[in-house]
Amino acid sequence: MNSTAWDYVIVGAGSAGCVLANRLSADGRHTVLLLEAGPADTYPWIRVPIGYAKTMFNARVNWCFKTEPEPQMNGRQVYWPSGKTLGGSSSINGLIYIRGHRDDYDGWSAAGNPGWSYADVLPYFRKLEHNVRGGSEWHGVGGPLWASDIGAKHELVEALIAAGGELGIPANRDFNGATQEGVGYYQLTTRRGFRCSTATAYLRPAKSRGNLRVETNAQATRVVFDGGRASGIAWRRAGSEQVAMARREVILSAGSLQSPQLLQLSGVGPSALLRQFAIPVVRELPGVGENLQDHLQARVIFRCTKPITTNDVLKSWPRTLAMGMRYVLTRTGPMAIGINQGGIFARTDPARGRPDVQFHLATLSSDMAGSPVHTFSGFTMSVCQLRPRSRGHVRIKSADPLAAPAMQPNYLSAPEDRATLVAGIRLARKLAGTRALAPYVAGEYRPGPDATTDEQLLDFARERAGTIFHPAGTCRMGPAADPLAVVDPALRVHGLAGIRVVDCSVMPALVSGNTNAPVIMIAEKAADMILGDANSR
Ligand SMILES: Cc1cc2nc3c(=O)[nH]c(=O)nc-3n(C[C@H](O)[C@H](O)[C@H](O)COP(=O)(O)OP(=O)(O)OC[C@H]3O[C@@H](n4cnc5c(N)ncnc54)[C@H](O)[C@@H]3O)c2cc1C
Repeated sequence: MNSTAWDYVIVGAGSAGCVLANRLSADGRHTVLLLEAGPADTYPWIRVPIGYAKTMFNARVNWCFKTEPEPQMNGRQVYWPSGKTLGGSSSINGLIYIRGHRDDYDGWSAAGNPGWSYADVLPYFRKLEHNVRGGSEWHGVGGPLWASDIGAKHELVEALIAAGGELGIPANRDFNGATQEGVGYYQLTTRRGFRCSTATAYLRPAKSRGNLRVETNAQATRVVFDGGRASGIAWRRAGSEQVAMARREVILSAGSLQSPQLLQLSGVGPSALLRQFAIPVVRELPGVGENLQDHLQARVIFRCTKPITTNDVLKSWPRTLAMGMRYVLTRTGPMAIGINQGGIFARTDPARGRPDVQFHLATLSSDMAGSPVHTFSGFTMSVCQLRPRSRGHVRIKSADPLAAPAMQPNYLSAPEDRATLVAGIRLARKLAGTRALAPYVAGEYRPGPDATTDEQLLDFARERAGTIFHPAGTCRMGPAADPLAVVDPALRVHGLAGIRVVDCSVMPALVSGNTNAPVIMIAEKAADMILGDANSR
């Protein structure tokens, strides 16, 4: 078995892992190994925003997971894409640039995680960002991750903004600024019309450093322990096993599904589960894989009265060709946008203190996110409850590191989640009925006019709703007194030395919005903590 030694061994070159690889290797004092199970990000459609549809079901760059049959979703197995290439999910995501609500972070801090309030994390959000609008109290310039404007206005988004106005939802030009609530255009993580993944933003500029090595097609199979200290990672490529020793730290950034899986495979987790698979217990930590949370999206689809949707463009060869030419020549138009252009953060009940639903407005429609568009002119308001109460788990189903774990989000198991989703669907209908938007609505395709009662709308969600791709919380951060906490506020695994988890799994509670920028923020902050510890030793 080959063995090499590094200061830091990072597992997973996703949103978090690429940030760490860059920051930890920046001053040249430490050697860093970054292991990625997937291939290099050379698949051309990764770079083009509309390529989202080409990567959504593509096993070349996507793990293409499925949940276990979901009890509240008519026993369906819900499709869970997850990036498997340099950049991880940031290489296949929908490019929406959202931070969440400031109260999310204040909530993390109040739950016993000092250093994670919004005031604490805002400097990292500013550091990671190059906002094309320029710097401000809320935004940074010169950071690696580009946040770009969509540029061109779309009639449907303009109508949605006016529709919001009729219902008292204010226009908002910046969901990541002073207030989240409102309706407007999203910013995208694109750079001059190309996807800005963390592989592009962070890894590429660092790749030629002599002290950083990136291994692709390299799947970590186990954390190697020396007593209670993590001393390395066993990994496999094409059936041959190697060990990478870590002189300082092992860092798991394999995402919310695979970081807990790797811990469990290595003997860290709920002991009853580990014993089931004859895995010797290194550290009993009942929270590993628990606390799984995700955003569920119910996609309300309308037929459009005008041929102005992306469906219309894609069904016409001349228009598709014009779209392609426009992109090649100017890097603008539908190909530079991906899927969703407009967004809403709203309260389904005015008594709520902050938005409890988010909408993604897509100027196209399809049966599933990323599947072929309908032949009719259509657009979609995807409704998602922002702070789900339902909790699930990720648990190994076998001791084979190459087998996917069981993923059970338990969608809609909490009554509040069911009520909020139904209220969100009703809000979508109200918007469609406004003076501003009604002229564009030729009819409701899904759930369809026959669904009128709460129970029927819920049935629609059970039958049709899917993930909006934000599984989180499975290695939750919390103080030692928290029985389900896996990592402490410095993201060190409780009760062990030399190992941290840095990715979406550490969120104690899912943020109220999309998760890519929050994960990058977490990794930026983690890098400072890791280097701070190295300097103090
Ligand atoms: C289809 C899709 C659309 C999305 N849309 C948006 C959006 O529009 N906006 C937004 O903000 N967020 C979006 N998200 C969510 C966001 O991209 C993720 O939350 C974020 O990228 C997660 O970062 P991570 O570092 O935790 O994990 P990931 O980025 O998933 O990285 C984990 C990496 O670890 C690798 N890995 C796993 N196991 C191993 C192993 N054993 N050995 C070696 N490597 C391993 C994986 O291959 C992967 O590259 C979307 C996600 C998906 C999947």
